[in-house]
Amino acid sequence: MDATVMIGILSLGNRDVIEWYLTTHPTFQWNNELGMRFLFLLSLLSIHGVLLTEAKTCKCLYGQSCWPSSESFTELASNLSQPLLSPTPPALPCYSSDPNLEAACADVQANTHNATWRTNIPGAMQNINFETYIFPNDTVSACYLNTTLGVACEQGSIPPVGVDARSAEDVQAAVRFAKKHNLKLVVHNTGHDYLGRSAGKGAFMIWTHWMKNIAFHDTFQPEGAPSSETYEAMTIAAGVQWIEVYIAAAAEDKFVVGGISQDSSVGAAGGWVQGGGHSAFSGKFGLGVDNALQFTVVKADGSHVVANAHKNKNLFWALRGGGGGTYGVVTSVTYRTHPVVPLTLALGFVNFTSPDAAQRGVTEFIHLHPTLSDNEWGGYSFFNNYTLFFAYFATNVSLPDTNATISPLFDLLKELGQEGTITELVPFDSFYALADYQGIPNTQDSQVGNIVELSSRLLSRDTALNKAEETAKTLLSLPFVAVNYIAGGAVLRQDKDSAGVHPGWRNALAEVYTSENWEEGASAEIIHAAQQRLKNNTVVLDSITTDSAAYLNEASLHEVDFKKAFWGSHYPRLKKIKNEVDPSGLFVVPRGVGSDDWDADLVCRSS
Ligand SMILES: Cc1cc2nc3c(=O)[nH]c(=O)nc-3n(C[C@H](O)[C@H](O)[C@H](O)COP(=O)(O)OP(=O)(O)OC[C@H]3O[C@@H](n4cnc5c(N)ncnc54)[C@H](O)[C@@H]3O)c2cc1C
Repeated sequence: MDATVMIGILSLGNRDVIEWYLTTHPTFQWNNELGMRFLFLLSLLSIHGVLLTEAKTCKCLYGQSCWPSSESFTELASNLSQPLLSPTPPALPCYSSDPNLEAACADVQANTHNATWRTNIPGAMQNINFETYIFPNDTVSACYLNTTLGVACEQGSIPPVGVDARSAEDVQAAVRFAKKHNLKLVVHNTGHDYLGRSAGKGAFMIWTHWMKNIAFHDTFQPEGAPSSETYEAMTIAAGVQWIEVYIAAAAEDKFVVGGISQDSSVGAAGGWVQGGGHSAFSGKFGLGVDNALQFTVVKADGSHVVANAHKNKNLFWALRGGGGGTYGVVTSVTYRTHPVVPLTLALGFVNFTSPDAAQRGVTEFIHLHPTLSDNEWGGYSFFNNYTLFFAYFATNVSLPDTNATISPLFDLLKELGQEGTITELVPFDSFYALADYQGIPNTQDSQVGNIVELSSRLLSRDTALNKAEETAKTLLSLPFVAVNYIAGGAVLRQDKDSAGVHPGWRNALAEVYTSENWEEGASAEIIHAAQQRLKNNTVVLDSITTDSAAYLNEASLHEVDFKKAFWGSHYPRLKKIKNEVDPSGLFVVPRGVGSDDWDADLVCRSS
C-alpha cells in the first residue's frame, strides 16, 4: 500500500472505505513500516489541527455497518422526552394482510389529500413524489397508495429513524448524536417542501412538528438590543403551523404575515421563513424574512443560540432566506405583529371567448400589477388560453378606491369573457373574517397528496410595466402557469441586502410558476421526461426575467444554476456563513447552500 492510497483512505476517513480496501486487497498485511507511515500521516493531520471526525467525507446511512448500534440508540432515547420514531410510508398499512390494519388503510385512502393529516405523520411528505427514491440504475423505491400496481411497499426517501423533538434539549441531543455518528441528518417539520428537503434516504430525522409553544409580547426587546428597541411581537416554536398562528393571533386581535394554503398547514417557523416566506399580505407588510425579529437555533456543534440584529448577526442574515435545513435547527422564531385591518377581496373568474381574448385579458391583468403594488395589494391567480382566475386582496383600502383601481380590468374581462364571468368586490372586517367566506369558486383540487414538481421565476416591476404583452404571450405558451402576487409594495421598500433572500425579491412584484406531474407508479424514464419538460419550461420562464431569480421554496431541483436562481449575488456570503457555523456539513439539503460540495445524494463530499 503506498502513501497515496493511505492518504486517500484517511481523507475519505470512513470506516466503510477502510473495510472496502481490506476486502478488495486480501493480500494487504499490516507491518511495522506501514504502521510507521500511517502514524506519521496521522501526526501530520493532527499537527495541522485536522480532526479526523471533520475529515470524514461520507456520511453514515441506515443499513451500513457504521450505523449506530441499538445500545447507542437506547442511550440517545434515555436523553429524550419522547420515544424514538420509526417513520414509515403513509400507505404501509395497505400492504398488510392483518385485518386489524384495514381501518388504518381506509384512513390513508380517505386522507391522502388532507394536508393537516399528512403533517401529523412523520413519514409523510405533502407531495408523494418526495417520499420516493430513484436509484442511479433507475429503480424506483416507493410505497404507492395504489396497491393494484403490484409493487412492494418500500421505504423510499423516508428516514427510517428519528427523534420526536418537543424541546430545544431534545433537538440538542439529536444533533449531537447525528454529529457524533456522522449520520445523514434531515430536519422534518410539515413535509411541505417542494424540493424534498425534509426527506432523505437512509437518514436520521429530527421531527419538529410537536414543538407548539406560542407567546405574544407587547414590548419584545431582541436580546442585545437597547431598551428603547421594542416591538409588538409573537414567538412561536419550531412546529407551529400558520393555521395555529392565525387562530392565536385572531384571539389577541393581532395580525401576522404568513403563508396561505387550503388549510394553512405550512410550518410558520421552518422552511417557509428560512426560504423567504411570502404571503398575500407581503405587499402590505413585507416577506416573512422582513418580519422576523429573532431566531433561537441549535447549531451543528449542539449549542443553542440566539440570532437577531444584535447577536449572531451573520447567522440571522443567513436564516432569513438562506433556506431551511442548512444553518441549524431553528427552535423558535419571533415575528412582528401588526394591527388587524379591513380588506377587500377582488375576485375574477373568466372563461375567455378565444385565445386572442386571453392574450388581451392577461396582458392587461399583468400590466395592472405595478399599480396594484403601489397600493400594496396581493393575492393569487392562474391562467391559460381559456381561463383566468384571481383572488386578490386590497388591504386597508376603501371600497371606492379599490373599485377605482380594479374596475377598468373588470370591465375588460366582462367584454372578453363568456357568460358567467365573475368580477366581484367583497369587503371584510379582517383577514380572519375571510375564513368563513364560501364565495371563492373551487377552482383547484387539493394542493397536496399529489405528484408534482415546480419551477418558478420572480416577475420584476419593470417587466410587468414595460413588457406585459410579451410576458402574457410567453406565459400563455406554457401548459400551466400560476402567478402568486406576493411581492411589490413593502417588499420593494426593503434594502436588497437586508436579508439573505435573493436580492431579486426587491425588484419583484410576483412569483410565476409552472409545474409537471406524472402518474403514481411511473417508470424513471417517464419521471425524467417530465423533469426534462420542466427544465424546458424554465427556459421559457427565463425569457421574461432579467436575473433568473426564483423563489427557492417553490422551485425546481433541475435548475441549470441553482445558486444564481435561488440567491444570486448573496450566495458567496451565505456559503461563507454556512462554512463558519457548520464546517462539517451536518445540515445539507438538496440544492441548499453548501450542497455544491456534496454528491447528488448529499452523502459524500465531492469537493
Ligand atoms: C400546499 C402548499 C402551500 C404553500 N404555501 C406557501 C405560501 O403561502 N407561502 C410561501 O412562501 N410558501 C408556501 N409554500 C412553500 C413552503 O414555504 C415550503 O414548502 C416550505 O419549505 C415549507 O416549510 P415547512 O417547514 O412547513 O416544511 P418541511 O418540508 O418540513 O421543511 C422544509 C425545509 O425546511 C427545513 N426545516 C423545517 N423546519 C426547520 C427548522 N425548525 N429548522 C431548520 N430547518 C427546518 C427542512 O429541513 C426542509 O429543508 C407552500 C407549499 C405547499 C406544498
